[in-house]
Amino acid sequence: MPSIKIRFHCNICKKTISLEITDEFQANFKAVADRYPYPIVVHHAGHYAMVYLDESFKERGTVVSKIAIEEK
Ligand SMILES: [Zn+2]
Repeated sequence: MPSIKIRFHCNICKKTISLEITDEFQANFKAVADRYPYPIVVHHAGHYAMVYLDESFKERGTVVSKIAIEEK
């Protein structure tokens, strides 16, 4: 599989974020996703983006948050 870039706009830092995704990531995404668009969580610059990707790794919507919590 060729190398692919994901692009999304982050409303918190007001930047367009570009991520290069590896063959391994692409294979894992296809194996795990049971529907499309399927969300991935991107942790960057101290906050989070949930980026929905379609089968072609095109961004189909993004939600951003400064808050995450882990169950204990
Ligand atoms: Zn951001």
